[in-house]
Amino acid sequence: MVLILGDQLTLDNPALADFDPQQDVVVMIEAASEGMAVWSHKARIVLFLSAMRHFALALGERGWPFVYVKLDDPLPGDFAVRLGAVLARHQPQAVYVAEPGEWRMQQLLEETCTTAQTTLRLIDDTHFLCSKTEFATWAKGKKELRMEFFYRVMRKKHRVLLDGDQPEGGEWNYDAENRSAFPKRTGPGTIPAPASFPPDAITREVIALVDSEFADHPGSTDQFIWPVDRAQALQALARFIDTRLIQFGTFQDAMWTDTPFGWHALLSTSLNLHLLSPAEVVAAAEAAYRAGQIPLASAEGFIRQILGWREFIRGVYWLDMPGMKQANHYDHQRPLPRFYWTGETGMACMKAAIGQTLEHGYAHHIQRLMVTGNFALLAELTPQQVCDWYLAVYVDAIEWVELPNTAGMALHALGNRFTSKPYISSGAYIKRQSNYCSGCKYDPAQRVGAQACPFTTLYWNFIDKHEATLTGNPRTALMAKNITRLSSTERADIRALAAQMLAYPDAL
Ligand code: FAD
Ligand code: SF4
Repeated sequence: MVLILGDQLTLDNPALADFDPQQDVVVMIEAASEGMAVWSHKARIVLFLSAMRHFALALGERGWPFVYVKLDDPLPGDFAVRLGAVLARHQPQAVYVAEPGEWRMQQLLEETCTTAQTTLRLIDDTHFLCSKTEFATWAKGKKELRMEFFYRVMRKKHRVLLDGDQPEGGEWNYDAENRSAFPKRTGPGTIPAPASFPPDAITREVIALVDSEFADHPGSTDQFIWPVDRAQALQALARFIDTRLIQFGTFQDAMWTDTPFGWHALLSTSLNLHLLSPAEVVAAAEAAYRAGQIPLASAEGFIRQILGWREFIRGVYWLDMPGMKQANHYDHQRPLPRFYWTGETGMACMKAAIGQTLEHGYAHHIQRLMVTGNFALLAELTPQQVCDWYLAVYVDAIEWVELPNTAGMALHALGNRFTSKPYISSGAYIKRQSNYCSGCKYDPAQRVGAQACPFTTLYWNFIDKHEATLTGNPRTALMAKNITRLSSTERADIRALAAQMLAYPDAL
């Protein structure tokens, strides 16, 4: 028996490699517990279910024996119970499944197969360019892991953007060219629209199901535009490469009101569901550069996200689980403010980032890292509650990629394990990278007083609290030195206002 999980939707699934239709059966199971193990955005549930049903159609064309358990089938229970029932009915000698993305699912499969006295065979997931073993070998003996070094190894191994043995253009990383803001006077201008896919009959059926079964879940299905099968994912990739990649690098870190997607790829859902492979996405970007269609900085900036960050994040997840889920370097214990679920806050940047998240199930990396994530760290929110929120609200959220990004990068909950400093900034950064502050009741330049920007006050408060450790780290020493210029009265005023903000974040 071959089991295909909801985020393994490729005909290249390695568990299918030796499939024999004479004696094997393919199994797919929808269950309310999966993709919904946390409180989940409606669009995220729609995406998983619709993509699974489209993949089942593609598999069905092969005429192979097939068991597909639908969410609304009479078979009761969560994923484990449903799988147990299928095993009891079919009595397979073994269950073949490509390695699950999530640690929790691996545990669940092991337990269910043990209970059913069935052999479980986990097959290396060839979707990824770096296997778990290869990553563990690279990481061995390193206390702190740095993406940049891993990325160079991957560039060399997969011969991506190389000129002989040297990096194309002479540099491994063109990050310094990837930080422009949109011009403040003219704004983002016209950005070619990303490919979007109005719901077909299958997706419409799933939307109706989700709207009735998960009516009280956050977010909306009104703006559902995501690719749900391989053909659509390929179209989305082609549109991005042909029209949007050219400015991706330059404006990667830029934010603007009513510009939810910027020049970003919107390919994470297709990659995470395995509708696209990272190898083909990287190859398409490199080919566009080699053909002279796009500048090197854009190609490199984009390839780094996939060949570098995405593979690195997956490696770290499997290396540090299950401990990563409990990590809390700063011992932050404050509850998630209510406005994370509604967007109702006076902070214009948070309102914009959360608002588009609830509308589309999407925010781009800098919004996730430097707006909602930055606030969560400065506001001393409990990492586990913040991680649950990120896992719930983004259409591309799957724990292996969400958790290291949230706990490790945004919240610094693993200390310096794979980032050399906490990603914190005052309102000044948000002002520089966006137009949010011009429509805000707060002033990013004020750290105390009635108009003080919460990011700015809490940033200085964070530095005040962690001055000693920040001074001891060369990456943050300058940041820490700035606070020594403040008088003790100024520091006391910051502390007092910060205490109020921390106690009543929903009043901000
Ligand atoms: P682009 O910005 O256009 O980037 C291209 C591709 O690179 C993405 O599609 C993605 O596959 C990959 N990529 C870029 N950055 C990362 C990264 N840091 N880690 C892994 N892959 C990356 N990404 C998810 O796929 N799922 C998540 O649940 C998720 N949670 C996040 C939580 C936080 C707090 C942060 C800071 C980042 C998170 N990311 C997550 C990473 C990143 O923000 C998204 O991959 C990206 O915004 C998706 O949009 P895009 O396809 O338009 O990406
Ligand atoms: Fe955000 Fe502060 Fe700017 Fe308001 S002033 S948009 S809270 S950074």
